[in-house]
This record gives sequence, structure tokens and C-alpha cells, in this order.
Amino acid sequence: MRKLPTNREGINKPLWLLAEITYRCPLNCVFCYNPVDYAKQHQELTTDEWLSVLNQGREMGAAQLGLSGGEPLLRKDLELIVKEGRKLGYYINLITSGIGMTEARIKNLKEAGVDHIQLSFQDSTREMNDFLSSTKTFDLKNKVAKLIKQYDYPMVLNCVLHRLNIDHIEEILSMAESMGAEYVELANTQFYSWASLNKKQLMPTRQQLDKAEAVLKKFRDRLGNKMKIYFVMPDYYSTRPKKCMNGWGNVFITVQADGTVLPCHVAGMLPNIEFANIKDTSLDWIWYDSPGFNLFRGDSWMKEPCKSCPEKENDLGGCRCQAYMLAGDAALTDPICEKSPHHEKMVKQFVKDAEKISAGEKPIIFRTDKESRRLIKEKDTCSLNIEESRLFEDGVVASSDKSRVGSI
Ligand code: SF4
Ligand code: SF4
Repeated sequence: MRKLPTNREGINKPLWLLAEITYRCPLNCVFCYNPVDYAKQHQELTTDEWLSVLNQGREMGAAQLGLSGGEPLLRKDLELIVKEGRKLGYYINLITSGIGMTEARIKNLKEAGVDHIQLSFQDSTREMNDFLSSTKTFDLKNKVAKLIKQYDYPMVLNCVLHRLNIDHIEEILSMAESMGAEYVELANTQFYSWASLNKKQLMPTRQQLDKAEAVLKKFRDRLGNKMKIYFVMPDYYSTRPKKCMNGWGNVFITVQADGTVLPCHVAGMLPNIEFANIKDTSLDWIWYDSPGFNLFRGDSWMKEPCKSCPEKENDLGGCRCQAYMLAGDAALTDPICEKSPHHEKMVKQFVKDAEKISAGEKPIIFRTDKESRRLIKEKDTCSLNIEESRLFEDGVVASSDKSRVGSI
């Protein structure tokens, strides 16, 4: 039996288990939050392995189960996974693009025990929705929205905002209202993964944000609680960072498609940290005892200016992945903070430069299996800048098992 560390008592239980059950996806979103090197992933966990993850998570105290991907509907055993989650008493949230949802499927998922479905749109117009996902899926998503209502789920819509669609915020909110949405999440892109590769093209301008906030106020004043709108500003326009994931290894535990367990869905890119795989050890050990989950707990890892900062309880120094991407060291202050010596150049100056980018100056990279493979292969030789090259795991190679990853 493994020896328990002495400080186990000070560690909270995980409350949220996010199961990224597949990285296969029919869409190719330009802002996708899946790792850019996801083509390194080997076999997805089997049904039995996912059921074991759910059991272990629940035993540890997790109460919320998020089923995401890729597109979770591509797993034919999704209903089985949901059924087990329901039996264990999780509150189950399905995060989906809607592609693959049919009336038979939603009926089965309802019976199996899905509590909540979050449907993503890319825009209010067919043209932009289909461009951003590089698919023809707008009409299909509208049909799924109707099915969600028909099966008596609360309508929860999600649309990631950025420079290419933020000017449509009024139309996006009108579309949500006409669909009878109870809850709309309009989060500006956070620049990780594929969004980071496309950062220059996706960064909204100050003017766009101001206009969007005015529209938002109008809708909030008119609709109040009838349609709750959750709006997230892009980090780059802040002077203080977010308390990322509510603390490293504090609330959230993410299991990737191949069983790698992470404190957040993008942390796999951090160098010199070996994150364990659920196939090799228990979830309990990974959460409480593994070096990866303990690395940034508490504040003993902090360097200046965070170390002696009176605000460190508020934000825990921000996001470790952003610190690594922008400043080259995951233990540094998140450069979103204006106290960081990297804030001026990496954040403020970037926003100014991005305003000047002209159409076609830098081609947009769509999230596809082919691109992930290409980028892995060419990352040391192609035109990635140093920040972009940090998105890849050290020594990463693409999996030769093409059947379990990427587009279908
Ligand atoms: S490509 Fe789009 S729909 Fe698919 S996982 Fe990424 S963000 Fe989600
Ligand atoms: S210096 Fe660090 S702890 Fe202080 S406000 Fe900035 S990020 Fe937070």
C-alpha cells in the first residue's frame, strides 16, 4: 500500500470531474481548447476504464461530472457512461456541439440520466458559424436546440466570442432569446491551445468590447433573470489575472481521452512535469500524492512579485499555463497581472499590435487531425514563434494509431 503524504489533510476533495471522453470531433474550431498536439493521443479509454474513473471520482467526493471532448456524442458508449454516472449520484453535464444528436439519442440520454446539456454555437449567422468550425453545421445545431427544449432540458447556449464574431453579439443574443435559452455563456476566447495559434486574428479590439458590453447591458436590463447572460472578458484587457481553476488541484480534475489526468485541460503542455495516467495508478493517488498535482498547490512555489504580494490569496498568482506560454516559466507571475515584468510587452503591446493586423497577413489554423500531425512534425522547423512552440509537450510525437484520434 502506498504511504500517504503528511500534508494530505490540507488538500480539498475534487468536486468537478471533467471527462474528455474522446478527442474525435466533426468540427474544426479555430479556437478549440483541445491540445494542439492532440494527435499524440493513443487509444481512448475503454468503457470499463471510464466507468472505473467515474467510480473512483465519486468515492473521492466528486459531485459534478462534465462529459466533453472532442465531441462526446461520437462515443457509442456515452449512454452507458451516463447511466453509471447517474447510478453513482453525479450531476451530469453534457458539453456538446450537437453534431450526432438525434431524437433517439436525446431520449436515451435523458433516460440514462443526463441532467444538463450545454450546446455550442459559433455565431448567429450560418456563414460565420460554418466558417469558424469549417463545417456546414448551423442548421443541424438549430435542430438540436429544438430537441433540447422538446425534451425539457434548460436551454444552455454557449458561444465563444472573438474578433470575428463579437460584432454579432446582438444577433447572437436575439437568437438565444428566440430559442428560449435560459442561460447564455458568452466567453471571450481565452488564448490557449488552438486559440493561441490564432491569437492575432482572434483578439477583439477595445472598441469591439465596449460595443459588446453596451449591447449586453441592454439585454440584461430587458430580460433580467429570464435569460441569464454570463460574459467573460478576454484576460488581455485585465490588469489582474483570474484565480485559475480556483486553484491548482483544488476543485477540478480532468481526465483526457487517453487517461492522462490533469489539474486543468491544457496543463499537459507544461514542461518537466509528468502527469500520471489512470491506466497506471489510482485517481486518489494522482490527486493527493502525485508530484504534478502538488507542484503548484499552496504558495510555497511562488516567486516575486507574487511571493510577497498582499493580493496573492485572491488570485494565487494567476494561471500557470499562461505564465509558461508568455513568460517561459510556469512558476512566474501570470503576465496578465500588471505587476509582472512581462505585462507591458506580452499583454499590452500585443493587444496594440493585434489591432493593426490586416486580413490575410497570417492564415488561420483550423483544428484538424491533419494540422495537429503537421504541427507536431514541423514544430521545430516551421514558422511557430517561441510562445506557440510552448504549446507542445516536450519530445511529442504523433500517434501512429489514426483510428482513435482526430476527424472522422
Ligand atoms: S473542434 Fe470545436 S466542437 Fe470540437 S472539441 Fe474543439 S471546440 Fe469543441
Ligand atoms: S503579483 Fe501575483 S499575487 Fe499579486 S496581484 Fe499579481 S498575480 Fe496576484
